[in-house]
Amino acid sequence: MFADRASQFADEGDVQVGVVVGAVIAHELGHLLLPVNAHTRDGIMRAAWTPSFIPRSGVGVPGFDHVQARLLRLRVADRVASR
Ligand SMILES: [Zn+2]
Repeated sequence: MFADRASQFADEGDVQVGVVVGAVIAHELGHLLLPVNAHTRDGIMRAAWTPSFIPRSGVGVPGFDHVQARLLRLRVADRVASR
């Protein structure tokens, strides 16, 4: 179950489970909005996460790389414009 995995990951990394869930949501939104094979070596689209991936403070969670961030903005703007 996702909640159990998120909670275990948070415990192992000593971070708040809400920060983990937020990071997972961002990652999955990346899959919805970016082209196939969106995984990257680093950043929020990294395929495999370890507990140290998310800082204990919850601040400085890895983000999208520059190219992905720009593409996400363009795709969201396209969707908003086509409403
Ligand atoms: Zn993924």
